[in-house]
Amino acid sequence: MDCLFCKIIEGAIPSKKVFENERIVAFHDIAPAAPVHILIIPKKHIATMNDVTEEDDALMAELFTVARQIAKEQGIADTGYRLVNNCNDEGGQVVYHLHIHLLGGHKMKALAD
Ligand code: C5P
Repeated sequence: MDCLFCKIIEGAIPSKKVFENERIVAFHDIAPAAPVHILIIPKKHIATMNDVTEEDDALMAELFTVARQIAKEQGIADTGYRLVNNCNDEGGQVVYHLHIHLLGGHKMKALAD
């Protein structure tokens, strides 16, 4: 499958990983939009949020558990952070492998567009 994030999971494309278990990988975004910008992704290839099914309920919950844990480790849990999922073209999705952006380390502006 020609998926950039599947290649990152396999290690075929390098990344700065901060977390990995059997189901989930998290790594620093290559073009950070904030002082802390980490992507949390399932190893299972799910293209978009629309493709999540009830079968993935536990996996989705674990993505958020991992996000909270990484926010703590990065020292932004108390100051605050933003979790973002971009879905499809108008949502701004560029890589079609489900991911959550963890953004923090500075004061976020209100959501503009
Ligand atoms: O939500 P969206 O699909 O737009 O986000 C994709 C993200 O993947 C971007 O923030 C981009 O910088 C990141 N990326 C990355 N490593 C790559 C290619 C893209 O971290 N090799």
